[in-house]
Amino acid sequence: MNVKPATAKISSLALKHNLRIIKEKAPHSKIIAVVKANAYGHGVVFVSRAVEQMVDCFAVARLQEALALRSHGITKPILLLEGFFNDKDLPVMAVNNIETVVHNREQLEALKQANPPLPVKVWLKIDTGMHRLGVSLDEADEFYRELKELPQVHPQLGFVSHFSRADELDSDYTEKQLSRFLSATAGKQGERTIAASGGILFWPQAHLDLIRPGIIMYGISPTDTVGAEFGLIPVMNLTSSLIAVRNHKKGEPVGYGGIWRAPQDTKIGVVAIGYGDGYPRDVPEGTPVYLNGRIVPIVGRVSMDMLTVDLGADSQDRVGDEAILWGKELPIETVAKYSGILSYELITKLTPRVLTEYVD
Ligand SMILES: *Cc1c(COP(=O)(O)O)cnc(C)c1O
Repeated sequence: MNVKPATAKISSLALKHNLRIIKEKAPHSKIIAVVKANAYGHGVVFVSRAVEQMVDCFAVARLQEALALRSHGITKPILLLEGFFNDKDLPVMAVNNIETVVHNREQLEALKQANPPLPVKVWLKIDTGMHRLGVSLDEADEFYRELKELPQVHPQLGFVSHFSRADELDSDYTEKQLSRFLSATAGKQGERTIAASGGILFWPQAHLDLIRPGIIMYGISPTDTVGAEFGLIPVMNLTSSLIAVRNHKKGEPVGYGGIWRAPQDTKIGVVAIGYGDGYPRDVPEGTPVYLNGRIVPIVGRVSMDMLTVDLGADSQDRVGDEAILWGKELPIETVAKYSGILSYELITKLTPRVLTEYVD
C-alpha cells in the first residue's frame, strides 16, 4: 500500500504563466507581487523565488514575513502594506530594504523620533473610500509636506490607495475612488498604485505606475467567475487519497450525526482530508470532489481528518486513488460557491499538516 496524505501541489509554471497574463493586461505598470499570508497559502519562499525576476517589488502585511524573505535570499524591495507596528522595527527595515506604508499620525510621529541608519522608503496611504486605513483626502497635503522634510524618509515618496468595490463592474464607486486618488496626488512627486486584482482585471485606467496583484497571481478570480475566464491557471492543486472504499446499504447513514442516508445501495469513498487540514467543515451535501475523471459529491459531515463521498454503485475506484479538492480540474471558485466561503479564505486556511509539493 502506498497512500499519499493531503498535499498541496504548487506549480511555478502556472505562477509564471499568470504573471505573463498580468503583464499583458497592464503592460505599462510595474508589479508589486503580493505574497502576504504565506503567499496566500502557497509557500512564500517558493513563490517569491519563482517570480522574483518577473516583478519589481514584493508586498506583505507583517515585518516577520518580510524578514523571512530576506533570510531566504530574496533581494527585491519588500513593502509592508500596513506599515510598521513598532518604532523598533524602523532600523531593521532600513538595513533590510523593507519599505513602509504610512497611514496614520502615529506612524509619522514615530518616523520623526527615529534615527534609522539609512532613510526608509515610505508610501503614503490615502483613504479614497475604503475607510479602513489611510490619511483622509484633507490630510494628504500635510502628510506629504511633513514626510518630504524628514531626513529619515527616502526622498522618493510613493502613494497608495485601495479599492473597496473593484469587483462590482456596474458600480461607479471605483471611478470615484480613482479620481479622488488622482486629485489628492496631483502635483506631488512620486509613483502611484491603487489597483489590486479586481482593479487590474476590470479597471485599466487604474493601473497607474504600479499594480498590486495578489489572488490572480495564484490563478484565482477575485470575483464569482473562475480564473480560467481570464486565461489564468490555478497554481495550487489540493489533493488527497482514498483511504477506504466501502459498500454501503440503502437507507444507512454515514458519519457524525448521521445527517445523510443513502437513497440506494452505493459505495462510499473516504478521502484523507478534513477540517484539521483546513478543508472547511461547513460545506453542504453535494460539494464537489474530483476523482478519476469525474465529480463525486461529498455526503455526510466533514470530520477532522476525513470526508466521505458517494462513489456510486458502479464505482471502480480503489484505495490510493487521488482525489482533487480544488485545482485545475475543479476550480476553487466552484468550491467557494458551494461552501459560501470566499476563495481567499479557503486558500489561506490550509493548516501546516497539509504537505507541500513543488512541481515543475
Ligand atoms: C491583499 C492586498 C492586495 C492584493 O489583493 P488581491 O485582491 O489579492 O489582488 C493589494 N493591496 C493591498 C493593500 C492588500 O492588502
